[in-house]
Amino acid sequence: MTRTTIRVLDPDTVNQIAAGEVVERPASVAKELLENAIDAGATSILIDVASDMAGVTRIRVTDDGAGMTPEEAVLAFSPHATSKIRDIADLSAVRTLGFRGEALASIAAVAEVTLVTRPRGAGALAGARVVVRGGEVVETGDVGAPEGTTVVVEHLFYNTPARRKFLKSRNTELAHIYGVVENLSLAHREIAFRVVHNGKERMATQRSRDLLATVAGLYGADLARALVPIGGRLPFLAVGGYVSRPSESRGNPSQVVISINGRSISSRALAAAVREGYGTLLPKDRYPVAFIDLALDTDLVDVNVHPAKREVRLSREREILAAISAAVEEALAGHDLAHDAPAEPVQQLLTAGEGGVAPAPAASEPRASYAAGHREIVLSDKQLRRTETEGTENLLPAMEPVGQVAATYIVAEGADGTLYLVDQHAAHERVLYDQVAGRRDAAPGSQELIMPVVLSLPPKESAALRDAMPFLAAEGFLVEEFGRDTFAVRAVPAALGAAEDPESVRETIAEILAGESRTAPDRREAVTCIVACRGAVKAGALLTHDQQKRLLSQLARTKTPWTCPHGRPTVVAFDRRRLDRMFGR
Ligand code: ADP
Ligand code: MG
Repeated sequence: MTRTTIRVLDPDTVNQIAAGEVVERPASVAKELLENAIDAGATSILIDVASDMAGVTRIRVTDDGAGMTPEEAVLAFSPHATSKIRDIADLSAVRTLGFRGEALASIAAVAEVTLVTRPRGAGALAGARVVVRGGEVVETGDVGAPEGTTVVVEHLFYNTPARRKFLKSRNTELAHIYGVVENLSLAHREIAFRVVHNGKERMATQRSRDLLATVAGLYGADLARALVPIGGRLPFLAVGGYVSRPSESRGNPSQVVISINGRSISSRALAAAVREGYGTLLPKDRYPVAFIDLALDTDLVDVNVHPAKREVRLSREREILAAISAAVEEALAGHDLAHDAPAEPVQQLLTAGEGGVAPAPAASEPRASYAAGHREIVLSDKQLRRTETEGTENLLPAMEPVGQVAATYIVAEGADGTLYLVDQHAAHERVLYDQVAGRRDAAPGSQELIMPVVLSLPPKESAALRDAMPFLAAEGFLVEEFGRDTFAVRAVPAALGAAEDPESVRETIAEILAGESRTAPDRREAVTCIVACRGAVKAGALLTHDQQKRLLSQLARTKTPWTCPHGRPTVVAFDRRRLDRMFGR
C-alpha cells in the first residue's frame, strides 16, 4: 500500500459514518490493532498478549508495515483522523479494513497506549514514540525504531470500572483474541501472523497464497483433508474457498468463516446460503465447516453498517446468496458422493450386477464359499443382536435394502427413488459407538469370556498394562495378573461380544495400550472407538436381507447416522434428480 497522509474527517462525513462503541473487550482492541497493521501493508505481524489471573493485562501488536511520521503518530489518536478515506464518496471504493479513524482514539480513551513507529525508507533514527493515557497525550519523543509500527495497550478500562466488570474469564477473553487472529489470518494469507501469550507461542501462520495451507496450519491436516474446493462466478462476484464433506459437520454455524474482499464478516444470511448448498446431505441440526472467500465489486458492499465493521450490507444479495448455494451444491455433487467422476458409481453398480449385487447371500458370492458365508452370517447375527434397541426416533430417511455390493456396501432404495449406498462396517461402528458412549455414566456392560485369554508380554508392555488395569476395568475389561508379565483377560466390554477369538482380544488390548499417552477423556473416547470398530460387522461379511434391514434401522436410531465415529461417511445418497442427470434424462 502506498502511504497517504492522515487527516481529520470533516464533521459532515463523520455524521454519515456508523457510530458506536468499538472497544468492548480485549479482543476488540486486538482486532482494531491488527486491522491497522493489515491496512499498513504488513507482511508479518506479531501479537503479544500478557495476562494474569484477573485477565488480559497487555496487548502488543508489532507490524512491518508502512509506519507513520512523528506528526502522524500524534494525529492518529485524534477522533476521526484517518488516512483511508477523505470523504463519504471514497467509502464505496474502500478496500482497507479501517475507514472511521476512531479506533486509536477510542482505545486511548480507556487505556494507556504506547505507539512506536518509523516510516518505511526513513533513516534509522526517524522513529517516533507517543504515549496516550485516558485520551491525553502524555509523552512524545524521537526513538530509534525498526520500520513499521508497534502499539502497546495496557490498563484497559482502568477508568471505566463498569466495563471492566463485564469482562469474562481470562480464558474466554484469550479465546476471543485467538478467534480474531484466526479469522483475519484466513482472510489475509499474504501475512504471517504469530501469537504469543505470556512468552509462549500459541499460533503461527506462514505466508501463503493457499487457503487450504492456512486452514491446515490453523486447524490441522485432518480437517484440511475433509474439505472440497468450491468455485463460482457472476460478472460482479467470484466465490472461492472450501467446504467440508458432510461427514465433517458441527453443532453450530461458528465454523462457517466468510470473508468479503479480505474483510472477515459474520452474516447469518451468507452462512445459511452455504448450509443451503448441502440440502439433505446434513441432518437438520448440523452445520458444515466452511471457509468462503468472496471477491465482490466494492460498490456492492456497504461496509458502513456496523461500528465494529463485523457486518456488511450487500446489493444484489439474492443473486449472491444463490451463487454461493449453487457453488457449494456443485462442489459436493462432484466430489463427496461419487468421490470422483459422477459416472463411476454407475459403473460400479453395473459391473457388480454380474455377481456382486447379492439379493440374498445364498446366491453364491464369488469370493466366499457357501459354508464360509454361513459362518459369517451367524457371526453377523450375533453382532447385530447386541445392538438391538428400542427407541423410536428415526434420523435417516426411510430406505429399503436391495442387496449388497462386494459384501461391504448395502444398496438401498428410498421412498422417493433415492439410491443409497451404506458402508456396513462404518454404519455398525456408529451404532456400537453410540451405545457404548451412551452408557458412559452407567457401569460398562461387561461380558465374561468362556475361556480367559492369556497374555504374555515383554516387560515394558506389561508395565503399561499394569498401569492401565484400573482404567481398563472401568471400561469393562477384567484383567488379572497371575505371574511375571503374564495376564489373564477374563471379561471384555459387552459391545465386543464374547469375542471367541483370542487374537482379537490381544489386538484390542494392544491397540488401547498404544494410545496410552492421551489425556483421560481422549482415552475413553479412543477406547470407545476401538471397541466399536472391533465389535462391528466387518466389511466383506455377507448379510441376509433381514440383517441388512436391521442394521439400517439401528443406524437410523443413532444420534448422528451420517458418519462413523472416525468421521467417515456411513451413507452416500444419489437422489433421483442426480440419477436422471447421469443418464441424460
Ligand atoms: P482507521 O483505521 O479507521 O483509519 P484508526 O484510529 O484505527 O482509524 O487509525 C488512524 C490512522 O492511524 C490510520 O488511518 C492510519 O493512517 C494510522 N495508523 C494506525 N495504525 C497504524 C499502523 N499500524 N501502521 C501505520 N499507520 C497506522
Ligand atoms: Mg483502524
